[in-house]
Amino acid sequence: NSQLLDHIRNLIQEHRIHTVRVTLTDNTNITRSRYVPAKAFLQALVDDGINYPSTLFSMDTSARLVAEAGDGYAGGYPSWLLKPDLNTFIVLPWVSGTARVIADVLQPNGEPVHVSPRQVLKNIINQVNEAGFTVRGAFEFEFYVYKQNSGHLDPAWHGLNCFADVNQAQLEEIFTSIIQGLDGIGAGPEVANTEYGPGQFEITNSPFTGVEVADMAVYYRSAIKEILSQRGYTATFMGKPNGAASGSGGHFHFSMYNNKKQNVFFNPTSSDGLSDICRWAIGGQLYHARAICALVNSTINSYKRLLPYTFAPVNASWGHEHRCTMIRVPAARGYNTRLENRLPAADTNPYLASAAILAASLDGIKNKIEPPVSSDGLDPYAQENLTPLPSSLSEALEELQRDNVITSYMGKEFIKHYITLRKSEWQRYQTHVSDWEIKEYLDLF
Ligand code: GLU
Ligand code: MG
Ligand code: MG
Repeated sequence: NSQLLDHIRNLIQEHRIHTVRVTLTDNTNITRSRYVPAKAFLQALVDDGINYPSTLFSMDTSARLVAEAGDGYAGGYPSWLLKPDLNTFIVLPWVSGTARVIADVLQPNGEPVHVSPRQVLKNIINQVNEAGFTVRGAFEFEFYVYKQNSGHLDPAWHGLNCFADVNQAQLEEIFTSIIQGLDGIGAGPEVANTEYGPGQFEITNSPFTGVEVADMAVYYRSAIKEILSQRGYTATFMGKPNGAASGSGGHFHFSMYNNKKQNVFFNPTSSDGLSDICRWAIGGQLYHARAICALVNSTINSYKRLLPYTFAPVNASWGHEHRCTMIRVPAARGYNTRLENRLPAADTNPYLASAAILAASLDGIKNKIEPPVSSDGLDPYAQENLTPLPSSLSEALEELQRDNVITSYMGKEFIKHYITLRKSEWQRYQTHVSDWEIKEYLDLF
């Protein structure tokens, strides 16, 4: 560890870093940072860490204090400590003299804050490791890009022809600035193209291992938002910014390996090349789909994406190379045999989404949960024999509250905290009367 510390000291000197952003993602899915001068940062590494007010963990997305979420932290919301994970230290190529690191959150007694999403994922990864597996994977995000200050949502490109060369050639600056930025932080994208909706893009992230999958997803999204904002654009990862167009998915691709680095989802002698473990992992995710939906689709808006004939799922389905199911099994076999869980919207919290999907998979593997018959050759949007996904955040939260298995994997205290915050957002939404309702009903009734 002193070697790592030396390495960080060198990086700070070499890149003339004056500021380190110490970052975490909380249970409202907001990524937050404290800006710490480099000198103070290096000092904090040898001292206890960096102060962080626990109040922020009790705020919903409108920064409204939700008192019940804070219970367990009685005593006037003490300061917590941010403990940087130096393995996540990166130098930002698009801001001079600035670096970034992801931190764990500790209570004053040095114990981790159990409701912190990164801690929840670490616990699940431990359980996966204890079962004899490691995880490798990546999030695959779509996002919309709008021109800033246009007064209304003016997309960076118009029309519906994704991948079209003529459109993309006019978007050179967007593509290259993002590709170079992501490359510079080691989040090397593999492919980039425009997507179905006007202004929509997809730029893939390369795979990582364990907690790093979620850490890199956090870096990836904020990198894109910052790089484009510097160029006069707003990039948004909200699930459904445009009701009339395709939503933005945050598909989670993952494989599991044994201690000999063999892919345990692969079985060369089975008819489709998938192992029992893989089938049970699918079974677990589908069995718990209604509950984990609340964790992977955590905003009001996320649910507006889960509609028929949009390539987003509407039920607990799976299929080989099937893009209308909740779980697609990509064609790759051998070391790259993997599952794509298409349930998360791009606004997902990468820590909680991967934790929930892995917890459900692990339960499937442990209890040999068989999935329903695959939707191969079928239209899952028209299949009535499959379990439907929740149609709102409120419905999903009720499912999560009922699912004791997912609760015990993720931690009781965490689930209570999460549900309290999400319900608060739901209540805020319920008291809002939308333009749509006024237009639809005012004259009519
Ligand atoms: N936009 C779709 C979604 O919301 C995914 C389309 C695709 O497969 O690229 O999940
Ligand atoms: Mg896509
Ligand atoms: Mg995908």
